[in-house]
Amino acid sequence: MSNIVAVVGRPNVGKSTFFNRMIQRREAIIDAESGVTRDRHYGKSEWNGKEFSLIDTGGYVENSDDVFQNEIDKQVHLAIEEADAIVFLVDVKDGLTAMDEDVAQLLRRSKKPVFLVVNKVDSSKNIQDAMEFYALGLGEYYNISAINGSGTGELLDDLVKAL
Ligand code: GDP
Ligand code: MG
Repeated sequence: MSNIVAVVGRPNVGKSTFFNRMIQRREAIIDAESGVTRDRHYGKSEWNGKEFSLIDTGGYVENSDDVFQNEIDKQVHLAIEEADAIVFLVDVKDGLTAMDEDVAQLLRRSKKPVFLVVNKVDSSKNIQDAMEFYALGLGEYYNISAINGSGTGELLDDLVKAL
C-alpha cells in the first residue's frame, strides 16, 4: 500500500464518521485480536485524481470508560510508523482534553505530516470555540463537520498534496 492516511484521536471525536464519509470502498476489516486493539479499518479513497488508503484506528472498544491512554498511544505509534500522513481529530463540542494533549505530544515528534482537524464544527457558531486547539502546538487546523461534510474539501485538497 502507498499513500496511507491514518485517522487518530481519542474515542468519540468522530473518527469512524469521518472515515465512512471519506472512503469509497472498504477493504479487509482486521478483526480484534484481544477485543481491545488492532481492528483497524482500511478503506480506499481518491481526491483530485490521487488515490489513498485510509485507516480508521479506532481499534479499542469505544464508548467504554476503559479506553486506556496507552491503547490510543499504541495506535498513534503505529500510525506514525506506517502512515504517510496523519489526520488527528479532536472534538469542538468536548473541547480540549488531556487525552488530546497526550496524542499531540506524540505527534509533535513525528516527522510525518500531521493534519489537526477540529470536528463537529457543524455551524459557524462553533468556529470561535475551535481556537483553543492552537494550544496543542500543532499549528493551523481545519474545521470540519464529519456529519454534514463541511470543510472536508479544503482538508482533502491539502492532504493529498502532502502525499
Ligand atoms: P470515534 O469514536 O472517534 O470513531 O467517533 P464516531 O465516529 O463513532 O462518532 C462519535 C459520535 O460523534 C457519534 O455519535 C457521531 O454521530 C458523532 N459525530 C461524529 N461526527 C460529528 C459531527 O461532525 N458533528 C456532530 N454533531 N456529531 C458528530
Ligand atoms: Mg470509531
